[in-house]
Amino acid sequence: MKVVVVAGGVGGARFLLGVKAALGLPATGPGDSEHEITALVNTGDDVWMHGLRICPDLDTCMYTLGGGIDTGRGWGHAGETWVVKEELAAYGAEPDWFGLGDKDVATHLIRSQMLRAGYPLSAVTEALCDRWRPGVRLLPMTDDRVETHVVVDDPDQPDQRKAIHFQEWWVRYRAGLPAHSIVPVGADEAKPGPGVLDAINEADAVLFAPSNPVVSVGTVLAVPGVREAMRKTAAGVVGVSPIIGGKAVRGMADACLTAIGVETSAEAVGRHYGSRQTSGDGLLDGWLVASGETVHVPGVAVRAVPLLMTDVDATAAMARAALELSGVDLG
Ligand code: GDP
Ligand code: CA
Repeated sequence: MKVVVVAGGVGGARFLLGVKAALGLPATGPGDSEHEITALVNTGDDVWMHGLRICPDLDTCMYTLGGGIDTGRGWGHAGETWVVKEELAAYGAEPDWFGLGDKDVATHLIRSQMLRAGYPLSAVTEALCDRWRPGVRLLPMTDDRVETHVVVDDPDQPDQRKAIHFQEWWVRYRAGLPAHSIVPVGADEAKPGPGVLDAINEADAVLFAPSNPVVSVGTVLAVPGVREAMRKTAAGVVGVSPIIGGKAVRGMADACLTAIGVETSAEAVGRHYGSRQTSGDGLLDGWLVASGETVHVPGVAVRAVPLLMTDVDATAAMARAALELSGVDLG
């Protein structure tokens, strides 16, 4: 079976662990399986800092699936230290608000060096995965530079607006500056990364992880060709709601949804993705929401199941429900 998962960082990576378990793949390592999982990973969070190319969502997926994640934080290496960050701060180097760990720096050094030598991000990611063996094919949504920016009131000149990088808005301001708009800069001209469209065309199931609908899943969908491929694929397309009881399970997705005029509810997010059958540009055949919620999305089969990724077993049950809703036979 070929399963494609659209993923951001923490929510995407945890869900992928569940998809692996649901298909009988070991938690870490490639394992021996007739099943193939391909993650289409958001790269709109990527940023240059201190001369290093940082790809937060790809790294979160790679470390989580490779068994090296700090499970408490959900991002970065287990057993991380922060000497480089402290030394940069001692120089007064900006930005000083980003959590750049020492072990992480090694990943960014290799990536930056390879990018400067001319390798595309997809090839760099494959090389990094030789070490981490995530057991999932991690495909950047594109090899082109796409960076999500957020238009806010300028904190220094309140009568003016300015666009800041998504990382600055999210990490420095904790999404606390109201966003007028959120724009994946460069997406219009980006091409899908190698393998992305083929994976969608050849899939038996396409799943949207319970990732941020705006700045994770939404950014992947903003790459020209991706949405069209999903509307055409023979696979069932099923989304998993990141919103439970009108709240994001973790993080500040509500601020992103507000910025695009979508209410923070499972129903509104399902309607935002839309029906592949009955709407002109919709994407979903199925929508998984949390147990106890009554949700109606016209033209979409809605199922309610427990949606908290508390451990791998619970997440595997979610993944199984998503796969079943997509129409595949799990035997
Ligand atoms: P990021 O890139 O690290 O911000 O992570 P993602 O975009 O992949 O996922 C973030 C989303 O995951 C948030 O909007 C959360 O609501 C959602 N999320 C986190 N944990 C859970 C969970 O246990 N269940 C569900 N349904 N959603 C979750
Ligand atoms: Ca992210």
